[in-house]
Amino acid sequence: MRLPARTSLALAALVASAPAVIGSFAALPLSAQASPRLAARPAPRAVADTSIFAPLSLPAPNEYRGASGAPGPRYWQNRADYVLRATLDTAAQTVEGALTLRYTNRSPDTLRFVWLHTEQNAFRSGSLNTLVFEEDGRFGGGGFRGGYTIATVQQVVGTPGAPRRVDLARRDQETLMAVDLAEPLAPGRTATLELAWRFRVPEHGADRMGRDGALYEIAQWYPRVAVYDDVRGWNIEPYLGQGEFYLDYGDIDLAVTVPAGYIVAATGALQNAAEVLTVVQRARLAAAARSDTVVRVITAEELERGTARPRQAGMLTWRFRAKNVRDAVWAASPDYQWDATSWKGIMAYAYYRPSAAAHWHDAADQSRMSIMEYSERWFPYPWPHISAVEGPISGMEYPMIAMENRSADVYDLFNVVTHEIGHMWFPMIVGSNERQYMWQDEGFNTFINTFAEGRRYPERGDQMARAAEERRLVEQVMMASMDGPVDIPPDRIAPDMLGVTAYVKPSVGLQLLRQEVLGEAAFDAAFKAYTARWAYRHPTPADFYRTMENVAGRRLDWFWRGWFVENARFDQAVDSVAVETRGDTAAVTIAFGNRERGVLPIRARLTFSDGTTQELRYPAEVWSTNSRRYERQFRFVGKRLMSVELDPDHRLVDVDRRNNVWGQRPPRS
Ligand SMILES: [Zn+2]
Repeated sequence: MRLPARTSLALAALVASAPAVIGSFAALPLSAQASPRLAARPAPRAVADTSIFAPLSLPAPNEYRGASGAPGPRYWQNRADYVLRATLDTAAQTVEGALTLRYTNRSPDTLRFVWLHTEQNAFRSGSLNTLVFEEDGRFGGGGFRGGYTIATVQQVVGTPGAPRRVDLARRDQETLMAVDLAEPLAPGRTATLELAWRFRVPEHGADRMGRDGALYEIAQWYPRVAVYDDVRGWNIEPYLGQGEFYLDYGDIDLAVTVPAGYIVAATGALQNAAEVLTVVQRARLAAAARSDTVVRVITAEELERGTARPRQAGMLTWRFRAKNVRDAVWAASPDYQWDATSWKGIMAYAYYRPSAAAHWHDAADQSRMSIMEYSERWFPYPWPHISAVEGPISGMEYPMIAMENRSADVYDLFNVVTHEIGHMWFPMIVGSNERQYMWQDEGFNTFINTFAEGRRYPERGDQMARAAEERRLVEQVMMASMDGPVDIPPDRIAPDMLGVTAYVKPSVGLQLLRQEVLGEAAFDAAFKAYTARWAYRHPTPADFYRTMENVAGRRLDWFWRGWFVENARFDQAVDSVAVETRGDTAAVTIAFGNRERGVLPIRARLTFSDGTTQELRYPAEVWSTNSRRYERQFRFVGKRLMSVELDPDHRLVDVDRRNNVWGQRPPRS
């Protein structure tokens, strides 16, 4: 899901109007104000280790999830393969669906029931969603009342030669449905379920699906089996709109039946191009498969002349197949222009209405560049196409599909396109639990987006400049005491703070880890290892923390605790500078202070009377024996120390910069 521009703007206004709660000296604990000698003495330890450096308490490693952060020797996850059929009724604005789910139990447990997500039921009267959110808010349903009408839920039992279908008992629990299996599902066995249903398509589907005139963006449209995992058993958090999806992997066979005049974009490779596309369109697609520039597959003129569709009345079925995906969605419109290009044989498509063409002309190339950037840097893109799809949904990701609204300019469009495409890595490839740990996809994705943005439009600032912008925002939010811990479920974060807490703050955390703590080589090796180890799997935060430490080679309890688990503040200060001069030699003692709970590395610049400067860098671990104070001695010959400035280039986060300078701050060049 996108971080809408309006969120950050609103937030900036909010921050500006909030009283700046800046850590005043009076509010500090006595030990920090006392004399250096006293403050340097550690407090007697009467309680458990509460230091920011104390070992983080993580779940004990086991045979499923190892101590190194890699999947254990007996790691398992269940598999969900679907055959999906959808028919769009544009007059009634309904989708009628049928599915066959082959659900394979790879857990060590026998399952007697399965939970399925029935997320359209978020739009039922009296649903939790309607009670938690404003109707016209981002995650509300806009007053629409709908939900599933489920016709059949059956299990296929018996032998392949003589199958029998048994109706199954079911019970609803908010946006989930439990189905009692006809036969217990033993470890290693597969259950085959068949369901049929229909629902009316909401116009505003809580910002994740919906319709606009003749255009439909269809997601959360079929009952999807919930994840049964080794961490929590069945994951049964309801769908409220804010927390996204946690789903198992499998292969999907999708058939979408729409009026013949419609063009369909979907998860999966198109299987029946000869039936649904014209000869000209197929030739253009073949050309695009060999081209790194954009080929117009369907133009606005062809839409207008009526030559964009095969000459056929009635309905037409589009068939798609996808391997190793956690979801399948589709979009359909009679007004889609279609652009295509490719990178290493992977197709990059853009579908958009002529009214959006001004900037969407670039979308296929933006998509191509996005998969190239993330593939080259982190992990290769595994699927046959990526599709940017224009419609009413303001930024939402599904396997191979990125849904976006029209945008103010190409920069704004790229920010959303590359964000939704970045989600192909987190969480479509690395299948973390979005409803529990939103930061593990939104935060990681926001971080990798800074590389794509800096690469595509360097005139708007390079990657470091993008990261600096995010860092300043987080610092302002901390100064206004509006920040919260990152590692909490999204449904417990106020909607107006979601952008900072789940997107920007974790992104800044990774950026600090890369630039200031681990260094680029160690960070990149560890982050790539995390992506590769957990590709098509379900990592938890502990798996991430452990992988980063084990591969990068640093204990980071203090970093995870300060940046992800707690909402520690950060305030370094120059506590004192003592100078003793003898002849032309000065003995200088600099005491650095740390006045909040969080610790970060120290960056300081010394400026001398002869105009020269010296940069000091100390790792955060220098705070480990005394998290309040750190002293260093220096000897300078033939020059006078004029100033000491902490974090002069603003590479860290600091909620009170007034105490960062000793002496005469050097004039800025
Ligand atoms: Zn997102």
